[in-house]
Amino acid sequence: MRAMFEGRIREGVVTGRLEKGDVLPDALLDVCREHGVRAGWLFAIGAVSSISITAYAQKGQRYLENVEVSGDIEILSLAGNVSLLDGEPFLHLHVVAAKEEDGQMQPIAGHLVRAEVFALEFLILPVSGVALERSYDELTGLKLWRR
Ligand code: ZN
Repeated sequence: MRAMFEGRIREGVVTGRLEKGDVLPDALLDVCREHGVRAGWLFAIGAVSSISITAYAQKGQRYLENVEVSGDIEILSLAGNVSLLDGEPFLHLHVVAAKEEDGQMQPIAGHLVRAEVFALEFLILPVSGVALERSYDELTGLKLWRR
């Protein structure tokens, strides 16, 4: 049975730019807190100087060891959502990026753990009229949006 949540794209779309040295996801979480975003979707492109990603091992029901990369990394697409975990805004972010190596762009992709921003342009689409709260899901071992 799918979980559906009906809401509206709220007025007050937030768009902006992070500064060199800002850290993800904290800097975007700060933006959400400042603008009272408790549910929504988030998109960004830009560049980072280091990135840490992971993936969820479905059989073991745990996140794999983080993969950490540093260098000239382009964020081709950062996408994710804002919801509540223990009553506080929480970001779930995925990323597709490319790192320059010997003149070639090598892909990196996964569940974002942390990144240090070089430059980043973002868009946050707040959703109103819906409460997206995470709680532990026994079937997957993840903290998912509860019905
Ligand atoms: Zn994820």
